[in-house]
Amino acid sequence: MLYQQSREESAEILRRVLQLMSPHPAGYHPLSYTVWYEHAAELNPPLSQEVEKLLASASPVSDADVRRLHALHIAARDVAMFELAQRDLRELIGRTEQDAADAQETLGQFTETLAAAAQQMAEPDGHAVPALIGSLLAQSAQVCSRLSALHAQLARQRQEVVGIIERLERAHTEPQRDPLTQLANLNGLRRAIEGEGNPDGLMHVALLAIDIDYFKRINDTHGHVVGDKVLVKVAGILRERLAGDDLAARIGGDEFVVLLRAKSLAAAAALAETVRSAAQRMLIVHPDGAQFAGDVTLSIGAAVARAGDSLETLRHRADSALYDAKSAGRNRVAVAADGESR
Ligand code: GH3
Ligand code: MG
Repeated sequence: MLYQQSREESAEILRRVLQLMSPHPAGYHPLSYTVWYEHAAELNPPLSQEVEKLLASASPVSDADVRRLHALHIAARDVAMFELAQRDLRELIGRTEQDAADAQETLGQFTETLAAAAQQMAEPDGHAVPALIGSLLAQSAQVCSRLSALHAQLARQRQEVVGIIERLERAHTEPQRDPLTQLANLNGLRRAIEGEGNPDGLMHVALLAIDIDYFKRINDTHGHVVGDKVLVKVAGILRERLAGDDLAARIGGDEFVVLLRAKSLAAAAALAETVRSAAQRMLIVHPDGAQFAGDVTLSIGAAVARAGDSLETLRHRADSALYDAKSAGRNRVAVAADGESR
């Protein structure tokens, strides 16, 4: 749940919010209060990044600024999340209605059979009664098994509802973006895939698993600040090469993942090669202005989705290919053999 701070914590946040708000002309209203609250409580990294940019500029934060931040980073997030949940729930209700209608039809047929049987039994020639009872029993067993299937189906659907509610709660509490590079984080990547709502898993996508070679050494040689700049530059290289629907994420220290739409393995590997060579041409710039070339290389594993793949299974194959690239000497692209089960 969002806003779970204790009374004491929220009182402390309130004090900070008032300090933050007071030098600026933006009004004291619920929209501005929410913006400053989420910023002060560190609940919304993309919002905080924009707020910090505004604070770093000389001009005061206006009411228009606050309303824009609220629309972009609070209202839009909530609307997108509820639209997704609404869509999932509508689908679920549709399926439940269909299952209930099917069960009702089976029961209706059984009732008709019973009525017909009652009529036959009322006729003077009663010798067919044992056969009738046998057939009624068989049909009754069918109805029972249909109802127990419906019961199991409803239990599964109940679990789905619980899943949707949990996703809504997570959407509020877990950040989806990596604050350093502003790429999605692993959670954001998962959410984007969940948002596509394809229950059969990933379709027509390729995935690149990217890892900086000897990044620890880059940190040790040039310092963490420079290391951070390298991460930001790698993110920039990825962003420049993505088409509209593709998605890049930083999923760990020096690990990135790129999800590519409608790409063959060969096309994904070709794109990975352009990423690799751009990284190699990157200049590392020190805070004192000194520049170094050629220290940043990437190893990349590429894999393409097979029927029934989830993000995890696809990542697993791309990671295996990445491991091959590392063991073959780094600074290269390796592909997971299509159809191979690793
Ligand atoms: P390999 O070629 O096998 O990938 O070697 P490596 O040195 O890149 O691998 P390793 O996983 O040992 O090192 C990753 C390093 O990334 C270790 C950690 O200090 C550093 N790191 C993780 N997160 C950050 C970060 O946010 N900023 C910086 N500057 N460094 C980070
Ligand atoms: Mg590495």
